[in-house]
Amino acid sequence: MKQSSMIFPGSTVGVLGGGQLGRMFVVAARTMGYKTVVLDPDKNSPAGTIADHHICAGYEDDAGLQQMADLCEAVTTEFENVPAASLRKLAESVFVAPSAEAVEIAQHRDREKSYAREAGLETTAYANILSVSDIALAVETTGFPAILKLSALGYDGKGQAIVNSTEEVTEKFEEFGSVECVLEKMLNLKQEVSVILGRNAQGEVSVFPVAENVHVNGILHTSTVPANITDELTTKAQQQAMALANAMNYVGVLTVEFFVTGDDQLIFNEMAPRPHNSSHYTLDATTTTQFEQQVRTLCGLQPGDGRLISPVVMVNLLGDLWPVNWGKVFSENALKLHLYGKEEARPGRKMGHYNVLAESTEKAKEIAESVFKLIS
Ligand code: ADP
Ligand code: MG
Repeated sequence: MKQSSMIFPGSTVGVLGGGQLGRMFVVAARTMGYKTVVLDPDKNSPAGTIADHHICAGYEDDAGLQQMADLCEAVTTEFENVPAASLRKLAESVFVAPSAEAVEIAQHRDREKSYAREAGLETTAYANILSVSDIALAVETTGFPAILKLSALGYDGKGQAIVNSTEEVTEKFEEFGSVECVLEKMLNLKQEVSVILGRNAQGEVSVFPVAENVHVNGILHTSTVPANITDELTTKAQQQAMALANAMNYVGVLTVEFFVTGDDQLIFNEMAPRPHNSSHYTLDATTTTQFEQQVRTLCGLQPGDGRLISPVVMVNLLGDLWPVNWGKVFSENALKLHLYGKEEARPGRKMGHYNVLAESTEKAKEIAESVFKLIS
């Protein structure tokens, strides 16, 4: 459904998915005076437990989706693996952003890379592998070392393997269940950065600063803002993200991950049609948060100012750290803690994060790391 006019506070907005991203969307929406609905099959989901209304149903449940459409004036999603068919069904009777089409692009590594290339962004050399017979040609395209990745449903480094020979590609492809994969040339990365932006249905865009991301075991560990890259590269990353959003006629919050190579080339890695872990720094360090931006763009309001108020470092808190000595966390008064309300701490599970604001990224890093050491 098209958005006919701005959706103002007092209205009801919905989110598909009840994880931490959905929870922070709910907090932002409620802060701005909206009523909230969460659809998630888990009765204890982080977002469902704090929303005005929790529809406890699967993402393909017709009755649940119908209830969502009936209750809400607009609906968004917190994860990209929501079935596009569900977004299409919702869109028959309620405004949905991002669209099923945009989510379908971001769900799939070949589609997102092709789209990025068409919009003028550079990707690493890659090839699709649909069956074992595609492997020989794919290997010619990428050389070794390469990374084999599931085309869909991978996250946090899951569903991917570094490969060094044709035999290894075959072995891993079969281990992955012989489902569609991409083989990517492995790059020598100097840095990894990401950019998030908000774009509304009227085409108004606001882009946030560039974050520099460090991963440990495939999971984001820290994001530092501003990123330690040249002004030229910062502007380029922001412009490329906007070009991509405009090309897709994207509505909502869009994240674009880039690699920075040794010779300062900016290479598109992947996109996420939603708020992102690497932009949690916006909860404390920018004028508008990424979740407020999600509400604003969904509701057709002007995207908020993305200006950075202070240098900041975000540190993820995974379940491995539990139980945490909170006294040590609160010993630092420049630290802002965010926990997601998850009862069970499992290794690798994202339980929360903290942001440290300081006069420089170096100082913020120093504090962030010293606290992390205290609780590790
Ligand atoms: P996920 O969906 O798990 O985030 P990514 O494609 O972003 O998958 O890959 C996870 C991480 O693996 C990246 O952040 C990067 O550190 C590393 N990586 C992925 N692809 C490449 C590549 N082509 N060259 C070098 N490193 C890569
Ligand atoms: Mg990634």
